[in-house]
Amino acid sequence: MIRINENFTKLKASYLFSDIAKRVAAYASAHPDKPIIRLGIGDVTEPLPPACVSALHAATDEMAARDTFRGYGPEQGYPFLREAIAAHDYAARGCAIEADEIFVSDGAKCDSGNIQEIFGADIRLAIPDPVYPVYVDTNVMAGRTGANIDDRYEGITYLDCTPANRYVPAIPDTPTDLIYLCFPNNPTGAVATRDQLAAWVAYAREHRAIILYDSAYEAFIRDPQIPHSIYEIEGAREVAIEFRSFSKIAGFTGTRCAYTVVPKSLHAYDSAGAPHSVHALWNRRHTTKFNGVAYPIQRAAAAVYSAEGQQQTRALTEFYLGNAKLIRSRLESLGLPCIGGDNAPYIWINTGTDSWAFFDKLLNEAQVVCTPGAGFGKCGEGHVRISAFNSRENVETALDRIAKALAS
Ligand SMILES: *Cc1c(COP(=O)(O)O)cnc(C)c1O
Repeated sequence: MIRINENFTKLKASYLFSDIAKRVAAYASAHPDKPIIRLGIGDVTEPLPPACVSALHAATDEMAARDTFRGYGPEQGYPFLREAIAAHDYAARGCAIEADEIFVSDGAKCDSGNIQEIFGADIRLAIPDPVYPVYVDTNVMAGRTGANIDDRYEGITYLDCTPANRYVPAIPDTPTDLIYLCFPNNPTGAVATRDQLAAWVAYAREHRAIILYDSAYEAFIRDPQIPHSIYEIEGAREVAIEFRSFSKIAGFTGTRCAYTVVPKSLHAYDSAGAPHSVHALWNRRHTTKFNGVAYPIQRAAAAVYSAEGQQQTRALTEFYLGNAKLIRSRLESLGLPCIGGDNAPYIWINTGTDSWAFFDKLLNEAQVVCTPGAGFGKCGEGHVRISAFNSRENVETALDRIAKALAS
């Protein structure tokens, strides 16, 4: 008799986006004359930068000609892309990351979800709350947690992100082995300072732990004091893995290209305490289960690093940050405490009320969709996330409507 992996039955069903869709659909059918603006989405809205589109076309033509056709490429990514990443995203920031420490993939979601496979079943986890759900759910599937009780899994050390700590979690007072951090943060838009990251690196070094650092929103950082990479912190090469993606910087959410950095100086230990290269383990896993990103897509990603690509992607993030600035300043003028939006495309609003009640108020009275914070974890309650991924016109209209609704 075939049996299931019973860890899957521990997963708390995620009704967040389907619940939102249901409520929006119900409102729309009852009020067909009232257009709805969606500011809840975590997906980009602007098309691919022209430099990426040209590279995609040219590479497609190469694939159509016998002389330039390519079959399987290196699983870890083509050297032209890995070298461009190492030069522009790391060497230029003073980080000693080599091209062969970069693994190109089809998404930071899959990489941040798959990476836990190479670590022990009984390691101790530290995971922020609120959180990008992938970090938690993939560890539940792997059997590293107990049951979900009162919105929390047994066996996880939750890192509370609250107004009191400005949504940057404190270091736990107990040892943990695998620590998930995401800055600029989804959903809160919070960023971590150099000192805060240095404290995490020191903690990881002390406990021989590993930090999984998700910097998918790095391109939105504008404050020159805020590190873009964990490797800007001394000593991080021995304790951190970094995830990056072309999804948010260059509109690749539907095109699919990302990368993971695993330094060769990073070690994890067997039960006898002997060190093993994490780079070698991830290389083994990646080459066994993954066959590389499509050549034209890697060419399109590499075009991000051309002079035009740099200018065009900067314009893209500037555009979204312009929306974010409008959203944050307007909401603050309405008396709502907010963070984010200055170095991230998300604004996290402390509504001080039930997050679904606030969601319903915006939907019913302003025809604006936000994301209830409770969907991202226990500490998300009392908050909603508003996203800057939309047209300027929609953002302005939505803000006018929100102002009216909250005044009434
Ligand atoms: C959007 C996002 C990613 C990027 O995922 P892809 O699979 O590369 O599209 C990674 N981490 C977080 C927190 C995100 O919000």
